[in-house]
Amino acid sequence: MKNKQEILDVLQSHFGFDDFRPGQEETINALLEGKDTLSILPTGAGKSLLYQLPAYLLSGTILIVSPLISLMQDQVDRLHRQGEKRVIMLSGQLVGKERASVLRNLKSFKFVFTSPEMLDNQQVLTALKKNKVALMVIDEAHCISQWGPDFRPEYLLLKEVRQQLGSPTTLLLTATATPRIRQDILKKMGMATAYQVIKSVDRPNIFLAGQSVATQKEKDGELLKLIQKFTGPGIIYFASRKLASQMAEWLENQTDLNVAAYHAGVAPIERFRIQNQFMNNELQVICATSAFGMGIDKNDIRYVIHYHLPSNLENYLQEIGRAGRDGKQSLAVLLYANGDEMIQRQLTSVDVPPVTILEQIKNGKLSANILGEQASLFEFYLEHSFTPQQIIAMFERRKIQTEKELQEMVAYIKEDGCKRKYLLTYFGEQFDGPNEFCCDNELSNWSTKLVLPISQPIPENNKMGWENRLKALLNITEN
Ligand code: ADP
Repeated sequence: MKNKQEILDVLQSHFGFDDFRPGQEETINALLEGKDTLSILPTGAGKSLLYQLPAYLLSGTILIVSPLISLMQDQVDRLHRQGEKRVIMLSGQLVGKERASVLRNLKSFKFVFTSPEMLDNQQVLTALKKNKVALMVIDEAHCISQWGPDFRPEYLLLKEVRQQLGSPTTLLLTATATPRIRQDILKKMGMATAYQVIKSVDRPNIFLAGQSVATQKEKDGELLKLIQKFTGPGIIYFASRKLASQMAEWLENQTDLNVAAYHAGVAPIERFRIQNQFMNNELQVICATSAFGMGIDKNDIRYVIHYHLPSNLENYLQEIGRAGRDGKQSLAVLLYANGDEMIQRQLTSVDVPPVTILEQIKNGKLSANILGEQASLFEFYLEHSFTPQQIIAMFERRKIQTEKELQEMVAYIKEDGCKRKYLLTYFGEQFDGPNEFCCDNELSNWSTKLVLPISQPIPENNKMGWENRLKALLNITEN
């Protein structure tokens, strides 16, 4: 049992923080007592610390399971920047001799990041079993629930993996989970008695606004007005890469602001440059797809505008949560033109009936109109011997679920009452408001009345050019 002072010393010496943020101390204490814990803390609350701090007080490996390479890479980079070198990412990218060597020397790593699929591999499991896993962390734990928008069937493997590892103390982490999903996460992991730390998803400093217009063209005018008034730093989300690029160019021409596009179609080195310029306040506005944001640790983002409807409220909350991490007044605007849900529907649905896809996969060829994500889900189900009937039933259910989520998103923008209340009720919370800094339904003509703090440019001597940062990162990875 660690005493409070010992824990605070690690907080200070390894992380340079004096106090905990809400939910951190409670989670860390529970984990150090060996309790399995589900922590639901909003974006920016400081979830990484929940497993990074115990790492320095527990003997053994910290195993972190994450759904995306980019998320893992971000955490690995952060630990490196904190001076922690005992970090490894076990992904499909690690192959051959290198992989064998890492698995042989697993003991020399304190933090092991990996994906659920990797843990399905006996070689990897055996190597992990030889070392003591002090803490198993399941990041983005909502991915285990079929009731959530981010369901990943690979996550279903984790219950058994955990048992095979001798049921180490486990931390389930997520930023958003409705009560139903919460229950489902615990059920699917077989952890019904886990200790729960749940903090409100509410971010009171983010003003919630919606702007309905008749046509897409009117939307452009609204957007222009907004970014001229609220100069940023800000993020504008688009459903398509092409439009993100076109609008970045248009907005840059129309205003004095520096605007850039960021999405998976932009070359990695260019993305790195844009991210750094944004961090240094050399760029005020980023026109992005949902590829931008995860792992962006900029605390003075003043607004997040959605040009298109997000696919569901979970994603919406996650994306607007990138604003105002410094606690200062910030803004989230959702632009909506009649029929926007059609665009979203086209992006998320497959027109080809599941039976046809199944046939195509069995014959080893897929037609071009099947989305990558959907195809890989099918492959997963087939590999893990689900029957065709089960697979089709799961896809049918998913389709109904996706449509329901979209309707809930549309209902948010059409809500006559308090938007914050709608959002919080959706996530199973009570709301005591409203107040005038709540949402557009409480403050009429908000765009003329709302004042956002002006972000200070970073002083010259604190700036580290992106080339230097890249060099620093490369140096670290070479070591
Ligand atoms: P989340 O994963 O919940 O979105 P992060 O782990 O990325 O949050 O942390 C967000 C930011 O908060 C990071 O810059 C982190 O260094 C900072 N942070 C975390 N815990 C504390 C703390 N106790 N005091 C001050 N800053 C903190």
